Amino acid sequence: MMVAPVSLETMFGPSPQSRYMPCAECGASVDRAGAGPHVCDTERLLDFHLFQLREEIATFDAELAAWLVSAHGRFATWIAERDRHGGDEGRRRG
Ligand SMILES: [Zn+2]
Repeated sequence: MMVAPVSLETMFGPSPQSRYMPCAECGASVDRAGAGPHVCDTERLLDFHLFQLREEIATFDAELAAWLVSAHGRFATWIAERDRHGGDEGRRRG
């Protein structure tokens, strides 16, 4: 029985993963056969990092609101209000 030499590509067809791979920095689909090294696009880089931080960003508001009603948060708010309105008065005293 004759076995014809078959390459992996012939058996499975051209795999898109073998040619394109996502850039770890910006998430762009990089053509590995493309000319020259991949240079991350600044806009895409920013979008990708924001996308990765989306959960942290989404929880920030809730965490801030929770902190503001805590003892530390209320004290910081009081200090900030005092400094904004009567900061000089406090320094003049004493
Ligand atoms: Zn990139």
